[in-house]
Amino acid sequence: MSAGAGVFAELVGQSAVVEQLRTAVASGAPTHAWLFTGPPGSGRSNAARAFAAALNCDQGGCGACQSCRMVAAGAHPAVQLVSTENVSYRIDDVRELITTAQDRPQGFRWRVIVMEDADRMTERATNVLLKSIEEPPPQTIWVLCAPSPADVLVTIRSRCRAVSLRIPPTEEVARLLAERDGLSAQEAEFSARISQNHIGVARRLASDPQARQRREQTVSLPLKVRSASGAVLAAAELVTMAQADAESESSARLEQEQAALRRSLGLEPEEKVPAKLRTQFKRLEDEATRRAKRAVTDSLDRTLIDLTAVYRDVLSIKLGTGAPLINQHLASQLAELAETLSPEQSLACLDALSTARIRITQNVPPALAIEALMMQLIPRTRRG
Ligand SMILES: [Zn+2]
Repeated sequence: MSAGAGVFAELVGQSAVVEQLRTAVASGAPTHAWLFTGPPGSGRSNAARAFAAALNCDQGGCGACQSCRMVAAGAHPAVQLVSTENVSYRIDDVRELITTAQDRPQGFRWRVIVMEDADRMTERATNVLLKSIEEPPPQTIWVLCAPSPADVLVTIRSRCRAVSLRIPPTEEVARLLAERDGLSAQEAEFSARISQNHIGVARRLASDPQARQRREQTVSLPLKVRSASGAVLAAAELVTMAQADAESESSARLEQEQAALRRSLGLEPEEKVPAKLRTQFKRLEDEATRRAKRAVTDSLDRTLIDLTAVYRDVLSIKLGTGAPLINQHLASQLAELAETLSPEQSLACLDALSTARIRITQNVPPALAIEALMMQLIPRTRRG
């Protein structure tokens, strides 16, 4: 198998990580606890999923066999992919996982438990998990994912092998989009840049004109806000767009998962699902419902990341850094906004954005958090 083929093919810009994971799989005796870290968009959970597939594939992750396809469809009997829609994992969730970890892998090599957002574990939940990670059953592998090693307790960190992903460079994301999704070089570069090198977001912006339109509306909003009443209206519009975006993304994701599950079970796209397989499809739907609330939070966070890029561009213009703008296509509007803000005011806007991002993860009602933000984004005095 060539270096870029199989389940690791989509981990662009992560050659060191791919090498590390391949070596662990090839050794036949991988470490039992792993901590995958990297900023959002670096592909943490994709990497964890690829690793789980490779561990259970006769060819080290071919991407084509029944086992690999089941992992991709989220329907592998020995691979659990768990996430939480809550602010933190409940202790019962963690207990249930530990029970699952005791099960044999049912004819597969390894039982793999991929826990997304391991940073969302309370100290108590962490302590419950700790013992299972210290002495897991012989054929069980834990893969925890978090933004950075500092986000999990040191007791967990010290027992896991670290895998650290980075944000891939724009050129590599663009190349993947061109090669795999057939985008023109120009489209691929544009989507990669405005998504700030987030592969999933870039693909969506390139393939879904409505998502793209919402993104453009979002980033141009602060350019128009000039008054308190305008700020309130703009906030409501942002929240509505984020909700619409979350809904459309969730339903697209569910469709993809259903299609992948059909393929892995050998069902034709229109074929009726036989009764004995229905629970598997039901599970996908339940999972999608469970994710819905979290999807809105994630979409709002994405909105705030997009707005942050706007103010970074403005600051870059103000300071004359000459660095390429993320929103190059809005250069003239950004230059206008830059005219109305001092460098200090641009920085204050960036601070306000970062505060809003924190508030949203702390479950402050979105309308409140975004309104407070938009108020702070109104240009005060006009000085250059
Ligand atoms: Zn395979």
